[in-house]
Amino acid sequence: MPVAVSTFRTLSEAARAFESDRAARIYSGGTIVMRDVNEGDVSFNRLIRITDPAYRAVSVGSEIRLGGGVTMGEIAAHRDLAFLAPVARAVGGPQVRTVATVAGNLFAPRPYGEMAAALVALGAVAETAEGRRLPVEELVRGAPRALVAAVAFPRPSGDFRFAKVTRVRPKGAALMSIAALLPRGGSGETRIVFNGMGPHPVRAVAAERALAGRASDPSAIAAAARAAAEGLSPLDDALASAWYRREVAGVHLKRLLESR
Ligand SMILES: Cc1cc2nc3c(=O)[nH]c(=O)nc-3n(C[C@H](O)[C@H](O)[C@H](O)COP(=O)(O)OP(=O)(O)OC[C@H]3O[C@@H](n4cnc5c(N)ncnc54)[C@H](O)[C@@H]3O)c2cc1C
Repeated sequence: MPVAVSTFRTLSEAARAFESDRAARIYSGGTIVMRDVNEGDVSFNRLIRITDPAYRAVSVGSEIRLGGGVTMGEIAAHRDLAFLAPVARAVGGPQVRTVATVAGNLFAPRPYGEMAAALVALGAVAETAEGRRLPVEELVRGAPRALVAAVAFPRPSGDFRFAKVTRVRPKGAALMSIAALLPRGGSGETRIVFNGMGPHPVRAVAAERALAGRASDPSAIAAAARAAAEGLSPLDDALASAWYRREVAGVHLKRLLESR
Protein backbone atom coordinates (compact mmCIF):
# COMPACT_ATOMS: atom_id res chain seq x y z
CA MET A 1 0.00 0.00 0.00
CA PRO A 2 1.44 3.45 -0.86
CA VAL A 3 2.42 5.64 2.07
CA ALA A 4 2.11 9.42 1.71
CA VAL A 5 4.57 11.74 3.46
CA SER A 6 3.22 15.09 4.73
CA THR A 7 5.75 17.66 5.95
CA PHE A 8 4.72 20.41 8.40
CA ARG A 9 6.63 23.55 9.27
CA THR A 10 4.99 23.99 12.66
CA LEU A 11 4.39 21.60 15.51
CA SER A 12 0.78 22.69 15.92
CA GLU A 13 -0.07 21.93 12.26
CA ALA A 14 1.65 18.55 12.54
CA ALA A 15 -0.21 17.81 15.79
CA ARG A 16 -3.59 18.64 14.22
CA ALA A 17 -2.84 16.39 11.24
CA PHE A 18 -1.66 13.52 13.47
CA GLU A 19 -4.47 13.73 15.97
CA SER A 20 -7.19 13.85 13.31
CA ASP A 21 -5.92 10.99 11.14
CA ARG A 22 -5.86 7.53 12.75
CA ALA A 23 -3.97 6.19 9.71
CA ALA A 24 -1.03 8.59 10.26
CA ARG A 25 2.21 7.98 12.14
CA ILE A 26 5.00 10.37 12.99
CA TYR A 27 8.28 10.03 11.09
CA SER A 28 10.64 11.39 13.76
CA GLY A 29 13.98 9.68 13.18
CA GLY A 30 12.27 6.90 11.23
CA THR A 31 14.33 4.01 12.60
CA ILE A 32 11.22 2.08 13.62
CA VAL A 33 8.59 3.51 11.35
CA MET A 34 10.61 2.97 8.15
CA ARG A 35 11.23 -0.64 9.11
CA ASP A 36 7.45 -1.01 9.45
CA VAL A 37 6.97 0.56 5.99
CA ASN A 38 9.52 -1.83 4.51
CA GLU A 39 7.86 -4.79 6.19
CA GLY A 40 4.52 -3.85 4.59
CA ASP A 41 2.69 -2.73 7.75
CA VAL A 42 -0.76 -1.71 6.51
CA SER A 43 -1.96 -0.17 9.78
CA PHE A 44 -0.96 3.30 8.51
CA ASN A 45 -0.79 5.03 5.14
CA ARG A 46 0.60 8.44 6.01
CA LEU A 47 3.81 9.66 7.62
CA ILE A 48 4.05 13.06 9.27
CA ARG A 49 7.38 14.90 9.16
CA ILE A 50 8.08 17.96 11.30
CA THR A 51 10.59 20.64 10.28
CA ASP A 52 9.78 23.11 13.10
CA PRO A 53 13.16 24.08 14.68
CA ALA A 54 11.47 23.93 18.12
CA TYR A 55 11.18 20.15 17.62
CA ARG A 56 14.99 19.89 17.58
CA ALA A 57 15.72 22.44 20.34
CA VAL A 58 17.56 21.76 23.61
CA SER A 59 17.45 24.12 26.58
CA VAL A 60 19.31 23.59 29.81
CA GLY A 61 18.54 25.57 32.95
CA SER A 62 17.02 24.54 36.26
CA GLU A 63 14.64 22.67 33.95
CA ILE A 64 16.01 20.68 31.01
CA ARG A 65 13.85 20.64 27.89
CA LEU A 66 14.51 18.39 24.92
CA GLY A 67 12.50 18.77 21.72
CA GLY A 68 10.96 15.46 20.69
CA GLY A 69 13.15 15.43 17.58
CA VAL A 70 16.46 15.72 19.45
CA THR A 71 18.59 12.73 18.51
CA MET A 72 20.58 10.35 20.66
CA GLY A 73 23.73 11.58 18.89
CA GLU A 74 22.97 15.19 19.84
CA ILE A 75 22.37 14.22 23.48
CA ALA A 76 25.59 12.18 23.59
CA ALA A 77 27.58 15.15 22.28
CA HIS A 78 25.94 17.91 24.38
CA ARG A 79 28.32 19.22 27.01
CA ASP A 80 25.52 20.06 29.49
CA LEU A 81 23.88 16.66 29.15
CA ALA A 82 26.85 14.50 30.15
CA PHE A 83 24.77 12.63 32.73
CA LEU A 84 22.43 11.45 29.92
CA ALA A 85 25.22 10.55 27.47
CA PRO A 86 25.54 6.92 28.69
CA VAL A 87 21.82 6.44 28.01
CA ALA A 88 22.01 7.98 24.53
CA ARG A 89 25.12 5.94 23.69
CA ALA A 90 23.33 2.75 24.77
CA VAL A 91 20.78 3.14 21.94
CA GLY A 92 21.79 1.19 18.82
CA GLY A 93 25.01 1.89 16.94
CA PRO A 94 26.32 5.22 15.59
CA GLN A 95 24.11 5.17 12.47
CA VAL A 96 20.96 4.62 14.51
CA ARG A 97 21.93 7.29 17.07
CA THR A 98 22.40 9.88 14.33
CA VAL A 99 18.67 9.83 13.62
CA ALA A 100 16.91 8.06 16.53
CA THR A 101 14.97 10.61 18.56
CA VAL A 102 13.77 11.12 22.10
CA ALA A 103 10.06 11.12 21.14
CA GLY A 104 10.43 7.97 19.03
CA ASN A 105 12.05 6.21 21.97
CA LEU A 106 8.96 6.83 24.11
CA PHE A 107 6.90 4.75 21.67
CA ALA A 108 9.54 2.15 20.80
CA PRO A 109 8.38 -1.46 21.29
CA ARG A 110 10.16 -3.61 23.90
CA PRO A 111 12.97 -4.49 24.34
CA TYR A 112 13.77 -0.92 23.22
CA GLY A 113 13.21 2.16 25.36
CA GLU A 114 16.43 3.04 27.16
CA MET A 115 15.79 6.79 26.97
CA ALA A 116 12.15 6.31 28.00
CA ALA A 117 13.29 4.48 31.17
CA ALA A 118 15.77 7.26 31.96
CA LEU A 119 13.10 9.91 31.50
CA VAL A 120 10.75 8.10 33.88
CA ALA A 121 13.55 7.99 36.47
CA LEU A 122 14.18 11.71 35.98
CA GLY A 123 10.49 12.50 36.57
CA ALA A 124 10.08 13.93 33.06
CA VAL A 125 6.85 15.24 31.59
CA ALA A 126 5.93 15.05 27.91
CA GLU A 127 4.58 18.25 26.38
CA THR A 128 2.13 18.37 23.50
CA ALA A 129 2.18 21.08 20.84
CA GLU A 130 -0.68 22.83 22.71
CA GLY A 131 1.33 22.85 25.94
CA ARG A 132 -0.47 20.00 27.73
CA ARG A 133 1.88 18.16 30.10
CA LEU A 134 1.70 14.47 30.96
CA PRO A 135 4.20 12.54 33.12
CA VAL A 136 6.30 10.24 30.91
CA GLU A 137 5.62 7.55 33.54
CA GLU A 138 1.93 7.69 32.50
CA LEU A 139 2.57 8.19 28.80
CA VAL A 140 4.59 4.96 28.48
CA ARG A 141 1.65 3.02 29.95
CA GLY A 142 -0.42 4.04 26.92
CA ALA A 143 -1.62 7.60 26.64
CA PRO A 144 -4.26 9.09 24.33
CA ARG A 145 -2.97 9.74 20.82
CA ALA A 146 -0.98 12.97 20.84
CA LEU A 147 2.13 14.39 19.24
CA VAL A 148 4.95 14.76 21.79
CA ALA A 149 6.57 18.11 21.07
CA ALA A 150 9.15 17.96 23.88
CA VAL A 151 10.06 16.39 27.19
CA ALA A 152 11.07 18.37 30.28
CA PHE A 153 12.47 17.49 33.67
CA PRO A 154 14.19 19.24 36.58
CA ARG A 155 17.99 19.28 36.33
CA PRO A 156 18.85 16.31 38.58
CA SER A 157 20.12 17.47 41.95
CA GLY A 158 20.88 13.88 42.95
CA ASP A 159 22.97 11.15 41.46
CA PHE A 160 21.67 9.76 38.14
CA ARG A 161 22.88 6.30 37.12
CA PHE A 162 22.15 4.01 34.20
CA ALA A 163 23.02 0.46 33.13
CA LYS A 164 22.08 -1.57 30.07
CA VAL A 165 22.30 -5.35 30.38
CA THR A 166 22.92 -7.26 27.15
CA ARG A 167 23.93 -10.83 26.34
CA VAL A 168 25.57 -9.89 23.04
CA ARG A 169 28.58 -7.63 23.43
CA PRO A 170 29.55 -4.94 22.77
CA LYS A 171 26.08 -4.16 21.42
CA GLY A 172 22.82 -5.97 21.50
CA ALA A 173 19.23 -5.43 22.47
CA ALA A 174 18.90 -5.05 26.21
CA LEU A 175 17.45 -7.86 28.24
CA MET A 176 16.94 -5.14 30.77
CA SER A 177 18.13 -1.65 31.53
CA ILE A 178 18.03 0.23 34.80
CA ALA A 179 17.87 3.98 35.44
CA ALA A 180 18.19 5.31 38.98
CA LEU A 181 17.83 8.74 40.51
CA LEU A 182 19.36 8.75 43.97
CA PRO A 183 19.02 11.85 46.11
CA ARG A 184 22.15 13.30 47.64
CA GLY A 185 22.26 13.82 51.39
CA GLY A 186 19.23 11.61 52.03
CA SER A 187 16.51 14.09 51.01
CA GLY A 188 14.51 13.92 47.78
CA GLU A 189 12.78 11.16 45.89
CA THR A 190 14.49 7.85 45.05
CA ARG A 191 13.40 6.54 41.65
CA ILE A 192 14.45 3.15 40.28
CA VAL A 193 13.16 2.26 36.80
CA PHE A 194 13.56 -0.99 34.89
CA ASN A 195 13.04 -1.53 31.18
CA GLY A 196 12.47 -5.19 30.29
CA MET A 197 10.75 -5.98 33.58
CA GLY A 198 7.27 -5.18 32.29
CA PRO A 199 5.41 -4.20 29.13
CA HIS A 200 6.86 -0.65 29.46
CA PRO A 201 9.45 1.05 31.69
CA VAL A 202 8.33 0.38 35.27
CA ARG A 203 9.33 1.72 38.66
CA ALA A 204 10.66 -0.85 41.13
CA VAL A 205 8.62 0.48 44.01
CA ALA A 206 9.73 -2.11 46.59
CA ALA A 207 13.40 -1.39 45.84
CA GLU A 208 12.73 2.37 46.02
CA ARG A 209 11.15 1.88 49.45
CA ALA A 210 14.15 -0.12 50.69
CA LEU A 211 16.55 2.61 49.55
CA ALA A 212 14.59 5.70 50.63
CA GLY A 213 16.93 8.11 52.37
CA ARG A 214 19.85 5.66 52.54
CA ALA A 215 20.88 4.74 49.00
CA SER A 216 24.53 4.22 49.93
CA ASP A 217 23.87 2.07 53.02
CA PRO A 218 25.01 -1.54 52.27
CA SER A 219 22.08 -3.06 54.18
CA ALA A 220 19.60 -0.88 52.22
CA ILE A 221 21.30 -1.88 48.94
CA ALA A 222 21.04 -5.58 49.89
CA ALA A 223 17.34 -5.14 50.76
CA ALA A 224 16.71 -3.27 47.48
CA ALA A 225 18.44 -6.06 45.51
CA ARG A 226 16.25 -8.70 47.21
CA ALA A 227 13.12 -6.65 46.44
CA ALA A 228 14.14 -5.62 42.90
CA ALA A 229 11.63 -7.78 40.99
CA GLU A 230 8.82 -7.55 43.55
CA GLY A 231 5.52 -6.67 41.88
CA LEU A 232 7.09 -6.63 38.38
CA SER A 233 6.19 -8.84 35.40
CA PRO A 234 9.41 -9.44 33.44
CA LEU A 235 9.29 -9.91 29.67
CA ASP A 236 9.58 -13.51 28.50
CA ASP A 237 11.13 -13.54 25.03
CA ALA A 238 13.96 -14.79 22.86
CA LEU A 239 16.47 -12.59 24.70
CA ALA A 240 15.75 -14.09 28.13
CA SER A 241 13.02 -15.90 30.00
CA ALA A 242 10.96 -14.11 32.63
CA TRP A 243 12.53 -16.45 35.21
CA TYR A 244 16.06 -15.38 34.21
CA ARG A 245 15.20 -11.69 34.28
CA ARG A 246 13.62 -12.08 37.72
CA GLU A 247 16.76 -13.90 38.97
CA VAL A 248 19.25 -11.30 37.71
CA ALA A 249 17.35 -8.05 38.29
CA GLY A 250 18.63 -7.70 41.85
CA VAL A 251 22.20 -8.59 40.86
CA HIS A 252 22.32 -5.79 38.26
CA LEU A 253 20.56 -3.30 40.52
CA LYS A 254 23.10 -4.01 43.28
CA ARG A 255 26.01 -3.51 40.84
CA LEU A 256 24.54 -0.21 39.72
CA LEU A 257 24.00 1.04 43.28
CA GLU A 258 27.51 -0.01 44.30
CA SER A 259 29.18 1.54 41.24
CA ARG A 260 31.44 4.64 41.71
C1 LIG B 1 19.47 -1.54 14.47
C2 LIG B 1 18.62 -0.88 15.53
C3 LIG B 1 19.07 -0.89 16.86
C4 LIG B 1 18.30 -0.28 17.86
N1 LIG B 1 18.76 -0.32 19.14
C5 LIG B 1 18.03 0.28 20.11
C6 LIG B 1 18.49 0.26 21.46
O1 LIG B 1 19.55 -0.30 21.78
N2 LIG B 1 17.72 0.87 22.41
C7 LIG B 1 16.55 1.50 22.09
O2 LIG B 1 15.90 2.06 23.01
N3 LIG B 1 16.09 1.52 20.82
C8 LIG B 1 16.79 0.93 19.84
N4 LIG B 1 16.34 0.94 18.55
C9 LIG B 1 15.00 1.48 18.28
C10 LIG B 1 14.96 2.95 17.86
O3 LIG B 1 16.03 3.28 17.01
C11 LIG B 1 14.95 3.94 19.03
O4 LIG B 1 14.05 3.49 20.02
C12 LIG B 1 14.63 5.35 18.59
O5 LIG B 1 14.79 6.24 19.68
C13 LIG B 1 13.25 5.51 18.00
O6 LIG B 1 13.15 6.86 17.56
P1 LIG B 1 12.81 7.28 16.06
O7 LIG B 1 12.86 8.76 16.05
O8 LIG B 1 13.66 6.59 15.07
O9 LIG B 1 11.30 6.74 15.97
P2 LIG B 1 10.37 6.68 14.68
O10 LIG B 1 10.64 5.43 13.91
O11 LIG B 1 10.37 7.96 13.94
O12 LIG B 1 8.93 6.53 15.41
C14 LIG B 1 8.67 5.43 16.24
C15 LIG B 1 7.23 5.48 16.74
O13 LIG B 1 7.06 6.59 17.62
C16 LIG B 1 5.99 7.42 17.18
N5 LIG B 1 6.43 8.81 17.34
C17 LIG B 1 7.62 9.33 16.95
N6 LIG B 1 7.70 10.61 17.28
C18 LIG B 1 6.54 10.92 17.90
C19 LIG B 1 6.04 12.10 18.49
N7 LIG B 1 6.74 13.23 18.48
N8 LIG B 1 4.82 12.07 19.06
C20 LIG B 1 4.07 10.92 19.07
N9 LIG B 1 4.51 9.76 18.53
C21 LIG B 1 5.73 9.76 17.96
C22 LIG B 1 5.83 7.12 15.68
O14 LIG B 1 4.50 7.38 15.24
C23 LIG B 1 6.19 5.66 15.63
O15 LIG B 1 5.06 4.86 15.97
C24 LIG B 1 17.08 0.35 17.52
C25 LIG B 1 16.64 0.37 16.19
C26 LIG B 1 17.40 -0.22 15.21
C27 LIG B 1 16.90 -0.19 13.79
